[in-house]
Amino acid sequence: MQGGNALVVGAGIGGLAAALALARAGHRVRVLEQVAQIGEVGAGLSITPNAGRALIHLGLGEQLAAIGNTPPLGAIRHYATGEILVTLAQDQSREKYGVPLYHVHRADLHSALATALRAIDPEAILTGRTLESFEQGARGVVARFTDGGSLTGDCLIGCDGIHSVTRAQLFGRDRPNFTGYVAWRGLIPGELVPPDLLDPPLCMTVGPRRMLMRYPLRRGALINYVAIARRPAWMEEGWSVRSTVAEVLDEFADFEPRVTQLIALTPADRCFKWGLFDRDPLPTWTQGRVTLLGDAAHPMPPFTGQGAVMALEDAAILGRAFAAAADVPEALQRYERARHARVIAALEMSRSRSELYFADDPAQQVRALGAGMAELRTLYDYDAGSVAI
Ligand code: FAD
Repeated sequence: MQGGNALVVGAGIGGLAAALALARAGHRVRVLEQVAQIGEVGAGLSITPNAGRALIHLGLGEQLAAIGNTPPLGAIRHYATGEILVTLAQDQSREKYGVPLYHVHRADLHSALATALRAIDPEAILTGRTLESFEQGARGVVARFTDGGSLTGDCLIGCDGIHSVTRAQLFGRDRPNFTGYVAWRGLIPGELVPPDLLDPPLCMTVGPRRMLMRYPLRRGALINYVAIARRPAWMEEGWSVRSTVAEVLDEFADFEPRVTQLIALTPADRCFKWGLFDRDPLPTWTQGRVTLLGDAAHPMPPFTGQGAVMALEDAAILGRAFAAAADVPEALQRYERARHARVIAALEMSRSRSELYFADDPAQQVRALGAGMAELRTLYDYDAGSVAI
């Protein structure tokens, strides 16, 4: 079908990609985003080949190559001694899977998606619209906003993240599960970092119940790190909060100087902390003309770096499902059928890794990371542009 009128709730990576896929499939799309001005909090994202293929299918292959860095040489180091426990071979994704693995700045990917969508329809993204509820009938869906306004479409795609209002209205409120981990993400201007702290350019440092991974973004103009530690509970107001460099340093105080010196360079306004949550898989995401996509459908812990990747795959499949189906309910059923088992497999993969990745013994962590990376690569062959739907 073509010529539909879709409502997409949320202008994160999932929502923008879904809107782009629908717009490319010939639909008028309105993306309804609660914040007044869109723009992503900066941090790094791994775009594995399966996500690269979804972006190529959405027409963003060139943009991905322009904003992405292929991983540089890497190693896993011991937290206390700094000893290199494993050298990581040059990433072979391009040779093995036909598409490189890229590291991107989230803001760059977000901006590429928004630019491509606005090139098709400059009015596609509406900000300052917070979805409160929706009603669906036999022919369409009315989205109601907290400011009293409303919009009508022939379908509603809830891409409103882990705290999805769409999901809560469809299936009731369930509580997200705290995974027992928190993550700090920092971005440091590359020019501030002495070269000896960046040897090798990509590095994971493993220590008891903690890990820090760093890699360059924007050809080294920024050094991105994510530092994860176990915590018994998440006591903060909010799911992602501003943190302090002192707090990260305190958590990683027994790590070797290359790590602590790097953390100390984090600009105070670029240090954020995330409580890591997931939700139990839903048996279905769809009711009639309304469905869920990305973290709204399947929030997963970030231990395999597949949350945004799965949202990109979802989006490519959603666009194809609309192109193939005779009507909206059929399109949403096709989308869900094609995606459900795969994202649950990715969620379970990520969940099953956490205990071993954050074991007490670095040697055990290294073994777990090797096995985890091998398992993760089993996801890389998927082509959202051509799998059966
Ligand atoms: P979100 O990004 O949460 O977007 C939801 C949007 O909906 C937001 O813009 C929000 O403002 C809007 N919204 C919410 N409610 C409403 C409402 N009621 N009305 C209107 N708008 C609303 N993934 C990877 O693929 N690779 C990685 O390397 C990776 N690393 C990660 C590291 C960490 C530490 C964390 C925490 C996550 C990581 N992820 C990674 C996961 C990834 O960030 C998420 O899976 C992804 O961003 C989800 O995108 P989304 O569009 O579904 O949701």
